[in-house]
Amino acid sequence: MKLSKLASEIAESPTFALNEEARLLRERGEAVINLGIGEPKNKTPISAFLASAAKLTSGEVKYTPPDGLPSMKKAVIRYTEENYDRLVAPENVSITNGAKQSLFNILYSILNPQDKVIVIAPYWVSYNEMIKMCMGIPVIVTPENGTFTPRFEDIERAATSSTRAIIVNSPNNPSGAIYPPQLIEKIVNMCEKKGIFMICDDIYHKLTFDRNVAVPAYHFTKKDIENSHIIVVNGVAKLYGMTGFRIGWVIAPRDLARVMNNVLAQTTSCVSPISQAAAEGALNGLQSVVEALRLQIQNNRDVLLQEMRTFKGVRLIEPAGTFYALPDIRAFSNNSVEVSKFLLKKAMVVTVPGRAFGMEGHIRISFAGSVKDVTEGIARIKWALDPTSPNEIYIGDKKIIRDWM
Ligand code: PMP
Repeated sequence: MKLSKLASEIAESPTFALNEEARLLRERGEAVINLGIGEPKNKTPISAFLASAAKLTSGEVKYTPPDGLPSMKKAVIRYTEENYDRLVAPENVSITNGAKQSLFNILYSILNPQDKVIVIAPYWVSYNEMIKMCMGIPVIVTPENGTFTPRFEDIERAATSSTRAIIVNSPNNPSGAIYPPQLIEKIVNMCEKKGIFMICDDIYHKLTFDRNVAVPAYHFTKKDIENSHIIVVNGVAKLYGMTGFRIGWVIAPRDLARVMNNVLAQTTSCVSPISQAAAEGALNGLQSVVEALRLQIQNNRDVLLQEMRTFKGVRLIEPAGTFYALPDIRAFSNNSVEVSKFLLKKAMVVTVPGRAFGMEGHIRISFAGSVKDVTEGIARIKWALDPTSPNEIYIGDKKIIRDWM
């Protein structure tokens, strides 16, 4: 079968592939623990649920303007003004099917073939594939061994005349790192000086622990949205745990937003009004749900850190935000794909190999699920890899003896 060369070269999403594998194993009755996908277990906030139910029962479920329902845009404008201290016009907003579509539409709207985009490792799995789909070239900047924060000098060196954008994701998936404000400031200055777009994937910006904060890039420029090179992506998936509603949005200069909205109109017409109503409900509802989710995830993070402390040989940089940890497992193997496969086969625990995030020798552990999943999942990983841990374990109701070391 003759297919598009470009499309055929796009990699399968490793997180969704592993999720499916876990689902099938569970269907077969295996006691799988999924520490792969980043999806909180909370219920949809009641204000979101009621608003979308009201939309549905009104029977008025029709196309919306491609850039989003005016009332939804209003909620996004208010959110941005409150959280980013910037005045936003409706023409600066694009409502999309998840933050994923926001990112794709941005890249599609700014890139010409062979344009370069700087991506900082460890990176979220979809950036490189999206850049390639838009015929651009990802340029990876890797931090010094043993850290998850890039050196500004390396970023600056990577920025050439063919660089169109840099993607900055802080708090970061997969490492949980928050980049220091000084670094964000330097990137903002560089982008303004060189005319490079700074795409801020802020999807985890409220999911930070202890006293850590992710200072927004806007903080470091006096320019208004219209004249700024900063583009901000956000959404309800991680903010409210509303992953299935598929709502994201972009704040961008209006020329870019207009092109993005044309792309959206020609490819998907608009975002479902039922989902837009849900997101609007969440944004206009009680924001204590965000704090409740943050506290629950922070508690999971604390449990994870405690369990990891007795894990001999594994190095872990404490996650400052998100619901991911990226332990260094090189004491056991340099091959993260093999380790993840081994953990699934022997311990029935799903993890994601660091290789997928440009960080070989690490595995990503999501602590978005229940405390029980985190505790039991880490115990199983320790049992499978660490010879100093007890060699018997229960997986479901089966007692298993470790016989490979
Ligand atoms: N950016 C990052 C860094 C993410 O982790 C995710 C989801 N895993 C997204 C974007 C996409 O979010 P959404 O579900 O809203 O498409």
